[in-house]
Amino acid sequence: MILGTTPQTGPASASATAPERLNFPTLYFEATRGCNLSCDICMSSSNDVQRVRQSKREEMSTDEIEHLVLKTAKDVGVRVIIWSGGEFLTRKDALDLLARARRHGYRSSVCSNGVKLNRDLLLAIQEAGGNDLVMSLGINSLDDDNEGTRDAEVEVTLKALDLCEELGIKRHVVVNVGRHNMKTLGRTMDWLTEKRIPWNRSPFTARGSGVKHFTQHAVSREEMEQYVHPEFRRHFFGYVSYTPLFLAPEVHERFSQGQKNRTVPQGPSIGCWCGTWLAVNAEGYVAPCAILLDVLEAGNVREGTLAEIVSGSEMFGRILDRNQLQGKCGRCRYQFTCGGCRAMAFFKTGDYMAEDPTCFFEPADRNTVCEHEAETNEMFARYAIMAKYAGL
Ligand code: SF4
Ligand code: SF4
Repeated sequence: MILGTTPQTGPASASATAPERLNFPTLYFEATRGCNLSCDICMSSSNDVQRVRQSKREEMSTDEIEHLVLKTAKDVGVRVIIWSGGEFLTRKDALDLLARARRHGYRSSVCSNGVKLNRDLLLAIQEAGGNDLVMSLGINSLDDDNEGTRDAEVEVTLKALDLCEELGIKRHVVVNVGRHNMKTLGRTMDWLTEKRIPWNRSPFTARGSGVKHFTQHAVSREEMEQYVHPEFRRHFFGYVSYTPLFLAPEVHERFSQGQKNRTVPQGPSIGCWCGTWLAVNAEGYVAPCAILLDVLEAGNVREGTLAEIVSGSEMFGRILDRNQLQGKCGRCRYQFTCGGCRAMAFFKTGDYMAEDPTCFFEPADRNTVCEHEAETNEMFARYAIMAKYAGL
């Protein structure tokens, strides 16, 4: 998962008589490809002038967003909207959209590269989006490695995070994880933990301009095992979503009381967020993950409501049924609580239901218990309690 987001609770299960009501608590909305930076690895291709120009001609207007997204998203359980881009704040109607989202009853999370953020703008964002708004910023590393993948100095982001703290605005950090920062991850995560800032990892993938760097930056299963996963496991502030996640199904079941979106555990959501969030791009196309936008399309909000798109799409039918996962993900004890990264599966094999190619666990069958399960269960308990009581 890539998000600037927060865990959600609240069931929407089907009964024997009522029509099934699907539950996607979070909508990731890339409302523009326009950006004030030009990062070389940009997954929404905002560094590609031609692509942005074309997209701008098809970008949804303020009123379209209200009618096609804000008015219908609650029908599929959406309660939080993550506004992203490009740089969302380059949209002239950004504050208006936040205010409209609030009027429709959504909480907002704003992803930003931090460049435009100053005291006045942050106060205006808070006023438009409300006190429960979350500012989500990207940090890949606290040192020069950051500039290798983001076209901005990390100091810009750190300053924006400090300002948010001063103004009482909730904070979140997205860490794009790849070979470029795997050796500094521990330090980055220690720092985030010390600052009590929740974060999530976004895997480096071949979406958009990332395709040119995929071989260079995407982590292998050996690197996942040696460098990345040990850090994921020991930092519960990042448990909102990562894979592989060796969480015992019965532990989640006990905590969530069996809450699911079809087969995808929720309350809190963990592991792969496909089935928990929906993603919409600037032109209105819908995908099961932010990282799968532009490469997988279930439909367009200009042609059908989100409820119609999700319930009528074969892709969502498969994604929501983790019984259909292939390879070792399909015979794994963590098939439901983890699910494996569908984006990494897709970019490595072309099949979004294939096994997660970065996973180093080798289950013989569902009885195989991972050596890291006990540690994962313990960290999950801490995370879940924090998520519940801190209102993250
Ligand atoms: S496919 Fe799943 S695990 Fe991978 S980035 Fe998307 S939500 Fe996260
Ligand atoms: S085999 Fe798949 S489901 Fe099991 S832990 Fe690995 S990625 Fe997760």
